[in-house]
Amino acid sequence: MTRIYIAGHRGMVGSALVRVAKQRGYSEILTRTHQELDLLNSQEVDKFFAVEKPDWVFLAAAKVGGIYANDTYRADFLLENLKIQINVIESAYKHNASKLLFLGSSCIYPKNAPQPIKETDLLTSELESTNEPYAIAKIAGIKLCGAFNSQYGTNYISVMPSNLYGIGDNYHPENGHVLPMLLRRFHEAKLNNDQTVTVWGTGKPKREFLFADDMAEACFYLMENYQAADIGELINIGTGEEISIRDLAYLIKKVVGYEGEIVFDTTKKDGTMLKKMDVSRLEKLGWKYKLTLEEGIRETYNDFINNPDVRL
Ligand code: GDP
Repeated sequence: MTRIYIAGHRGMVGSALVRVAKQRGYSEILTRTHQELDLLNSQEVDKFFAVEKPDWVFLAAAKVGGIYANDTYRADFLLENLKIQINVIESAYKHNASKLLFLGSSCIYPKNAPQPIKETDLLTSELESTNEPYAIAKIAGIKLCGAFNSQYGTNYISVMPSNLYGIGDNYHPENGHVLPMLLRRFHEAKLNNDQTVTVWGTGKPKREFLFADDMAEACFYLMENYQAADIGELINIGTGEEISIRDLAYLIKKVVGYEGEIVFDTTKKDGTMLKKMDVSRLEKLGWKYKLTLEEGIRETYNDFINNPDVRL
């Protein structure tokens, strides 16, 4: 039986990976909380790999945050993400893990990458400055996986997801991403019988959303069926479908059952207008998402209502 280590299992993606691993019949799933294993400590990480000897490693642990945190704690974001990656990837190599999956983010692509964004757009021009330290760390991780593959013949795969949402999302009232923040705002407005709900910006920007469990399915699909050499340096994971923030707001309003009006606060920033990834490489490998956005939002809303732990 394949022994699987999922680093970062308490996060939205890591917990989706654990659920999907169980659904697919894997029984040897290794997880460690931050307290049990500090991924910033190379000796601890090395010892963990020496003792547990996982076959497959999913590296979903990272220091993450919204635009404010990324821009403020620039040194911490660069340093901690580099350390986590170096420690886990080096130990996986030293202790003979047969495969590793490294999770990146669409922010590794240049600020002005042509739409939809292709894997080959990596490092073709400047990054967005607010999250540059995080992006640089993730790019270093992709390059480290690629360098191990070419020098040592390892089998390390790097995946770049679009905007993720789902079970165990971050509902922080200021730091969250648009989908969980609006879910929470519409829910609270419904409970308080508020007449209006405010959505930031013009509603015109478009984004691509992927349910975290679908993302986890894609990761297992790639690990089970492909080698790093079939995939290339990195691969985008998304739906290939985008929606405007306005339409997203109306969809969330419907799922929540809120009956008031939506107001757009155009004093707030829109951010980048388009951020769609080209997922043709993934589709050629035979994978497509399962849940529609509406189904995914319903599942996420159920989790929000039924699981008070997810609410800060
Ligand atoms: P981005 O994809 O990195 O820009 O991440 P966000 O999820 O933070 O924002 C996506 C878009 O949703 C932007 O155009 C925001 O202006 C818009 N938006 C609308 N309402 C909200 C909100 O309540 N919170 C956030 N974070 N974004 C919102």
